[in-house]
Amino acid sequence: MSKEGAVSGASSAAASIKLRREPRFIVDSMLGSLARWLRMLGYDTIYAKGWHDSRIIEEAVATGRVIITRDKGLYRRALRRGIEAVLVSDNVAEALAKLGAVYGIELVIDPDRSRCPLCNTPLQRVEKLSIRGRVPPRVYESYDEFWICPRCGQVYWRGGHWRGIEETLEEARRLLSRFQRRRR
Ligand SMILES: [Zn+2]
Repeated sequence: MSKEGAVSGASSAAASIKLRREPRFIVDSMLGSLARWLRMLGYDTIYAKGWHDSRIIEEAVATGRVIITRDKGLYRRALRRGIEAVLVSDNVAEALAKLGAVYGIELVIDPDRSRCPLCNTPLQRVEKLSIRGRVPPRVYESYDEFWICPRCGQVYWRGGHWRGIEETLEEARRLLSRFQRRRR
């Protein structure tokens, strides 16, 4: 975890949860990877895999979710209905930077606030002993912090893939600061 992550995780998380009105999202079929990222970042996200546009629109109307799409037709249709929508490319870092610029989403992963990338349920930190036998022995020996999805049972830890996650987030933060400089 980066320094920024450690700071926001430890000292300001409680305050920012209270102050921020968290945006909730519905992500179209073509953006499964982005849906998983938003969940890891802690944002309540429906992945509308295989849904027709009209169902996505109705869900957004009913629940106040922001539609995220690559599809210009769906994007325009949403705007005509007065629904908030964001048009993104399939580049994850670019899409996250755009959502950072528009909705102020935090581009830092704090697993204590993450949702399960598979099913959108908030993760719970668990004692290491409780997941013994549920992860490969090498993983059990190498890591001390684990989280579990109480719904689907998936266990998470900051494994070898964490560096790749941090690199993508760093790229997103770099793009975001470029957006912000351009806006000034
Ligand atoms: Zn899950």
